[in-house]
Amino acid sequence: MAKTSTKCLIIGSGPAGYTAAIYAARAGMEPILYQGEQPGGQLTITTDVENYPGYPEGIMGPQMMTDFQKQAERFGTDVRFGLINKVDFSGEKHLAYVDNGDEVEAEAVIISTGASAKWLGLESEQRLNSKGVSACAVCDGFFFRGQDVVVVGGGDTAAEEASYLAKLCKKVYMLVRRDEMRASNIMQSRVFNAKNIEILWNTEAEEVLGEEAVEGVRVLNNVTGEKKELKATGFFVAIGHKPNTDIFKGWLDMDENGYILTERGTTKTNVEGVFASGDAQDHVYRQAVTAAGTGCMAALDAERYLAAKEVAV
Ligand code: NDP
Repeated sequence: MAKTSTKCLIIGSGPAGYTAAIYAARAGMEPILYQGEQPGGQLTITTDVENYPGYPEGIMGPQMMTDFQKQAERFGTDVRFGLINKVDFSGEKHLAYVDNGDEVEAEAVIISTGASAKWLGLESEQRLNSKGVSACAVCDGFFFRGQDVVVVGGGDTAAEEASYLAKLCKKVYMLVRRDEMRASNIMQSRVFNAKNIEILWNTEAEEVLGEEAVEGVRVLNNVTGEKKELKATGFFVAIGHKPNTDIFKGWLDMDENGYILTERGTTKTNVEGVFASGDAQDHVYRQAVTAAGTGCMAALDAERYLAAKEVAV
């Protein structure tokens, strides 16, 4: 069991974490970054990324995250494989515990643990992931231009994804498991007003069909028991996201869904020296580029915090 001290600990290795690392390392903060359960984050489970500026031909998600990591390491970030599974923010110095028994003491902590899309749990959904199954219309909708797609969910995310896809796709089937939607009225009216969205009420997806790519979806009406097959090449699951913030519960202020609350216009949390960036604090935009932007903000906030502390000593 090793104990290390650092000025700046970064938890998480998506665009927010690596961008925070690039800025923190270049500012001489010698950051240590723990990669977490899924090194590279959500982008490592997507294919082409075409909406990140600077890549005119697009780039594969995993490659992009390898590039982010290399850039962070080039300036001296100590990137470590491991999962922080407990923190203690009670003292002036913050403590983080790694799953291998190691302990890190940090003056500033940047949280960039991201969020995970919720999935239905179907075997076919997992097998065809990135082969037509997606949890992000803004990321992947473009690949389904002029085609028929299915969106699952009845909340704001599903309504937003369906409306977005309706502009690109020929037809959008929306599967809502009850006879009403949870989405706000304004989002629902957008769905109702789109001519090419067909809502299937009381309907659940039983199986995503296709061997190498999505070819359709078998659905079940949970009131009548009727089953049918919809032809579609895209299957978008939009039943919510879960921020990866469980270990910070009790220490940090969060909203009712577990997103970390930050002071408006900054990445400051309610604990001094702890900053939150990326999807762990953002349920609205959830893009690589916005996550990277808040990662940059977190590093600048951390740097200013440390500088102010030094002056005070
Ligand atoms: P929600 O939890 O609000 O909605 C989830 C939806 O998915 C519900 O319709 C739910 O059905 C359905 N669902 C859940 N599990 C399953 C399942 N296993 N099978 C089928 N359907 C399922 O999540 P959202 O991501 O939509 O929204 C999260 C928060 O973010 C909300 O507060 C929302 O308002 C906000 N948001 C705001 C946006 C905006 O203002 N532009 C955009 C996106 C999100 P049921 O209702 O039956 O439980």
